[in-house]
Amino acid sequence: MAISLLQLTPVSFPYFIRNSHPKLNPRTSILVHFVKSNPMSSGSDPGPVRRASSAKIFKVPDLETDQVDLIADQSFQRYFLSSSTRRRSGNGVAILWFRNDLRVLDNEALYKAWVSSESVLPVYCVDPRLFGASHYFGFPKTGALRAQFLIECLADLRKNLTKRGLNLLIKHGKPEEILPSLAKTYGAHIVNQVYAQKETCSEELIVERLVSKGLEKVVLESSSERSNKAKLQLVWGATMYHIDDLPFSTSSLPDVYTQFRKACQLYFLFRFEKLIICTPSFLNFQIEQVLLLCLILFVGSKMQAVESKCSIRGCIKMPASLGPPPPSIGDWGCIPSTESLGLSSQDVSKGMKFVGGESAALSRVYEYFWKKDLLKKYKETRNGMLGPDYSTKFSPWLASGSVSPRLIHEEVKRYEKERLANDSTYWVLFELIWRDYFRFLSVKYGNALFHLGGPRNVEKRWSQDIKLFESWRDGTTGYPIIDANMKELATTGFMSNRGRQIVCSFLVRDMGIDWRMGAEWFETCLLDYDPCSNYGNWTYGAGVGNDPREDRYFSIPKQAQTYDPEGEYAAYWLPQLQSLPKDKRNFPGKLYIEQIVPLKFGSTATTRNQGRYMASARKGNFGHRGQRR
Ligand SMILES: Cc1cc2nc3c(=O)[nH]c(=O)nc-3n(C[C@H](O)[C@H](O)[C@H](O)COP(=O)(O)OP(=O)(O)OC[C@H]3O[C@@H](n4cnc5c(N)ncnc54)[C@H](O)[C@@H]3O)c2cc1C
Repeated sequence: MAISLLQLTPVSFPYFIRNSHPKLNPRTSILVHFVKSNPMSSGSDPGPVRRASSAKIFKVPDLETDQVDLIADQSFQRYFLSSSTRRRSGNGVAILWFRNDLRVLDNEALYKAWVSSESVLPVYCVDPRLFGASHYFGFPKTGALRAQFLIECLADLRKNLTKRGLNLLIKHGKPEEILPSLAKTYGAHIVNQVYAQKETCSEELIVERLVSKGLEKVVLESSSERSNKAKLQLVWGATMYHIDDLPFSTSSLPDVYTQFRKACQLYFLFRFEKLIICTPSFLNFQIEQVLLLCLILFVGSKMQAVESKCSIRGCIKMPASLGPPPPSIGDWGCIPSTESLGLSSQDVSKGMKFVGGESAALSRVYEYFWKKDLLKKYKETRNGMLGPDYSTKFSPWLASGSVSPRLIHEEVKRYEKERLANDSTYWVLFELIWRDYFRFLSVKYGNALFHLGGPRNVEKRWSQDIKLFESWRDGTTGYPIIDANMKELATTGFMSNRGRQIVCSFLVRDMGIDWRMGAEWFETCLLDYDPCSNYGNWTYGAGVGNDPREDRYFSIPKQAQTYDPEGEYAAYWLPQLQSLPKDKRNFPGKLYIEQIVPLKFGSTATTRNQGRYMASARKGNFGHRGQRR
């Protein structure tokens, strides 16, 4: 049996001050519009989505529940300590406040809570503000599909904690009210620390500050009768590189991605260096090879890039048993339903259905790396759009913290050792560095990431034309590749990286629409929504990102021709195109709905701007996926 061969051993945030331009806030009018015509709301016409209800659904990971449990257990064994090797040294109860780190493995906050106490109380607060309205335009802050994914994450976390001697306390309300109250209640057991994973964006930072303040007011009596205060201990844990290991402070983080690219080149040079050293003809070195080695060593010594200067820490090895839980907790609380969060539940009727939770995350790593052996060709397939296998699909679990990037790194290294190492195995790590980069940028730029002018404060005229925006949102622009991607997003909560870049460029460049409308719609819909990656990528796409050299225009016909040459993807999401000849599906003319706007650079027009845009488009898209245009 395959498994036995496992290689795995609407309340808004009025006080969240992201917006410094209140006059630009069109929330009210757009919210009304949204409720009337949201493709995800119950009264709307879902178009092909509903008509295609008999279409195949791809479960991600595509494994039965018992297989998922088995794979998770085996991963736990691999990444857990044998119980005797680590001892805890603290007293009383420590609270572990789960946020976007919904996992047991490689969870440093959980580990610290365990070491520093006799008993850990794991808590998740279902914060009503996460189910309110988005900041500028009043879209649902969390759509039904991500809410469902979160619910599955919580159920799985509770299951995995229970298997290891704990449980998960689920409370409905604001963390700044719940956590101090719990600290007070468990004061008798000397709770003095609340551990949590550190976040970096304004909404999350405000909650952190409020929790800290609330805890400071809780004065506890220790066993030695000395009074002390409860404290919030924030632990870094969201990235592959630890923030403390960066070769620069976040305030001097490079603004130009080239430094990262240089690091990447250096990586390949180092590979080449290894090749030379390993060769039996080592002594017959050509002079160029010697010079190359000198160059490598020189560049290496000068580089300030993460890859050359810092290493990735290993996963935290967790103890096999995390218990006992604190005494006298009668009611551990209910896992919410989508309805209790104020949302109508939405079934995935077509495309990919992601399963939430750490067990599913570990199973997807197993499925993609080991079972289907897809890692070895990731670099060639990653620009695909259709089906679960062209890319890892790790992002929803990374965003919820169901799996750590360090665990993925360790699995890549294991794969390289046990199967093969090639450009593809490296490239997954390369993409994870992009994820890290956006996280660190959010520390450097703070709220500027959410402002219209972005980190560079670029002044540009944007439109907020509702009709255009709605046609983009609903997938009725008349451009099949745009419409198909937007339908996929609304139906599944996912869109490929290629698709995201294309629809982003179309919205901001061809329609001239305020990029924040697109970013907030993504915030509503994406299962993998993460403020740093989302707003980071949108600011890049809109030309207001931190990198002044990036100015990207995606030619829609060229993208369709290159990435969907037979119109397979378009016809999957727009069944009315299925009967057309393959080469017409993306270019259906009058056989499809009318195009809502002309392209900024139509197929024949040549302007200076187009030349500039096209040159940068040829150079790269979003800076890092340039080779395959
Ligand atoms: C406009 C726009 C908005 C985006 N919003 C988000 C978002 O909210 N959350 C999110 O996780 N990603 C976002 N991305 C990045 C990227 O599209 C997704 O991470 C990727 O498509 C997820 O699919 P995957 O896991 O199969 O990726 P893979 O290609 O398998 O990559 C592996 C991992 O690398 C990371 N990664 C890859 N590309 C990027 C990137 N450009 N930026 C940051 N991390 C990256 C992701 O964690 C991903 O899971 C956005 C990209 C664009 C262009």
